[in-house]
Amino acid sequence: MALMITEDCVACGVCLPECPVEAISEGDIYEINPDTCVECKGHFDEPKCAEVCPTDACVPA
Ligand code: SF4
Ligand code: SF4
Repeated sequence: MALMITEDCVACGVCLPECPVEAISEGDIYEINPDTCVECKGHFDEPKCAEVCPTDACVPA
């Protein structure tokens, strides 16, 4: 299970340093690696990227 980033991403970069497993990478639209995203399980109660994203671009894949 993983989250993904939709076309609503405005590449603000806020999510990148928040990911505890470094699953997010930079780009015109940021990307989540589905092989490393753990939905923040064991780190936070809720997916951190979704919590901090200003455009609600981080959604369940
Ligand atoms: S849900 Fe958590 S582990 Fe997955 S990409 Fe977002 S911050 Fe990283
Ligand atoms: S916080 Fe949201 S808008 Fe900003 S880079 Fe991450 S996914 Fe894109």
